[in-house]
Amino acid sequence: MLSHDIVIVGGGLAGLRAAIAAHDAGIRDVVVVSQVTPVRAHSVAAAGGINGALGNAEGGRDDSWERHMYDTVKGSDFLADQDAVEVMVKEAVPVILEMEHWGCPFSRNPDGTIAQRPFGGAGFPRTAYAADKTGHALIHTMFQQAIKRQIKMYQEFMVLRLVVAEGEVRGIVALDILRGELVPIRARAVLFATGGAGKIYARSTNNLLNTGTGMAMAYEAGIPLKDMEFIQFHPTGLWGTNILMTEGARGEGGYLVNNQGERFMARYAPKAMELAPRDIVARSIQTEINEGRGFNADGPGGGYVHLDLRHLGRAKIMERLPEVREICLNFAGLDPVEQPIPVQPSQHYTMGGIDVNVNGESRVRGFYAAGECACVSVHGANRLGGNSLLDTIVFGKIAGKHMSEFVQSGGRSRDAAADEAALREAVRAVEARIRALEDAPGTENGGDIRQDLRETMFQKVGIFRDEATLAEAIRDIRRLKERYRNVKIRHTGKVFNLDLIQQYELGGMLEVAEVIAAGALARRESRGSHYRLDYRERDDANFLKHTLAFRTPEGPRLEYSPVTITRFQPEARRY
Ligand SMILES: Cc1cc2nc3c(=O)[nH]c(=O)nc-3n(C[C@H](O)[C@H](O)[C@H](O)COP(=O)(O)OP(=O)(O)OC[C@H]3O[C@@H](n4cnc5c(N)ncnc54)[C@H](O)[C@@H]3O)c2cc1C
Repeated sequence: MLSHDIVIVGGGLAGLRAAIAAHDAGIRDVVVVSQVTPVRAHSVAAAGGINGALGNAEGGRDDSWERHMYDTVKGSDFLADQDAVEVMVKEAVPVILEMEHWGCPFSRNPDGTIAQRPFGGAGFPRTAYAADKTGHALIHTMFQQAIKRQIKMYQEFMVLRLVVAEGEVRGIVALDILRGELVPIRARAVLFATGGAGKIYARSTNNLLNTGTGMAMAYEAGIPLKDMEFIQFHPTGLWGTNILMTEGARGEGGYLVNNQGERFMARYAPKAMELAPRDIVARSIQTEINEGRGFNADGPGGGYVHLDLRHLGRAKIMERLPEVREICLNFAGLDPVEQPIPVQPSQHYTMGGIDVNVNGESRVRGFYAAGECACVSVHGANRLGGNSLLDTIVFGKIAGKHMSEFVQSGGRSRDAAADEAALREAVRAVEARIRALEDAPGTENGGDIRQDLRETMFQKVGIFRDEATLAEAIRDIRRLKERYRNVKIRHTGKVFNLDLIQQYELGGMLEVAEVIAAGALARRESRGSHYRLDYRERDDANFLKHTLAFRTPEGPRLEYSPVTITRFQPEARRY
């Protein structure tokens, strides 16, 4: 049986940063287990930038961590834990400079300092960027640092189970995708950095891997998921494909325009306009479409508005937004230098996740989480653009260091026989689940269930919600869970059996979707991205609290925990 001191699941920015930190803090036996090669993790797709109060740009010279903290807390609609936000914003400048010193090719000001652009909710330039390919630049830099340290990586390994016994982590069970073998890996500490759950939704900017498997495995192992009802809809997904048109496009001065030629954001956020936070801009766009001021309201693919960059001019578009242009040329057959871009709100980010503290620790000894799969919580009810890349690096680094200390100080018990017994039992449970998928009568097609789930979530647990549609969504999901019992794996070959992987992960997607819908139904208020048509106001008296969902055979059991407020008392959120 394989055995390592520290196992990191996920090779995105959070996972790689955690592995590097654990290694640098003295643990050499740290491995990264990843479904795809790390440079193909979703972090590579991040476009617009990473926030930090560098104070490098005109109009942002007097920036400070306190201002960054205030914007983040206000952006979160006061649901973020302020002690955690303080840690993140104080670490922002050091981690950005660290990435610079490691070789990240940030865009530059004429004086050589790192360039910054405005993003929503800040109102002035705080977002450092590498053109509109920031994630690409960051993850390649990070990957090189991991390689330099010779950190071992198990690539194309899909983790299927988190093994926990007696309140302690024991390891994981992975599928070696190439060989089709189950591989149990014993570990003293495990960190999940498995990314978001966007693909539970139709119309998502996320890649195919973001199915929330890490969240589902933690939930199944008894660890609660926190604040899952807060799903971010990005205002500007490219109509038809939902590929992201980065917020950098509005940061560089792009306009949103309706079918009357109006810059309609003046109606919703007169000061911030296109640079209001994402929840507000997404709702504004959808309202324009619903009220007949969009394009194609009833046509296939849904309605859209225009994102107009033409006034920025060719040179600026080519220099600052080359990827936006490439995507438009390749996927929409239009050139944004000459034509406006059709955009619609698309699912984008999972604010909730595995419940952990600022050190990335969960309530299971030795089990940690960081990045989009985790909820520390720094984003509360709405994440500001540019704060996620920051979250991955800051909390990946802190968690990796903490795990190293945990292991060096003796950590959890080191009873190898007990660990191995727990892992063998977990392998048997995974085998049984695979056999059930192989032996099921097979009248259902997993792809159909997945598609029905995604439509249910987008239509009924979407930008606008109410009691009736949320209750209906929960009934739909439970029916889909019934149908899932009848799904059969059609391809039984061992090598690269993606059919097996997809049908297996569908079980977890259904569980995570149920948590999102149940949390949304129970939260009878509107806060950040969670907008209830039947409860349109924020209700601090009853709902200034985190939702915790625990798995039971009957469905999620909800509990609540207090929000940590240190510096900023909740106030009305105006932009
Ligand atoms: C199109 C797009 C653009 C974005 N732009 C920005 C931006 O400009 N600024 C910003 O701050 N944020 C941005 N974001 C958000 C940000 O990119 C992500 O939140 C962040 O990169 C997530 O990083 P991560 O390390 O948590 O996970 P990911 O980068 O998603 O990595 C997850 C890793 O886990 C692995 N994995 C998952 N499940 C398993 C399993 N069961 N077994 C083994 N491995 C597994 C995957 O293979 C992958 O390696 C953007 C998001 C999108 C979708």
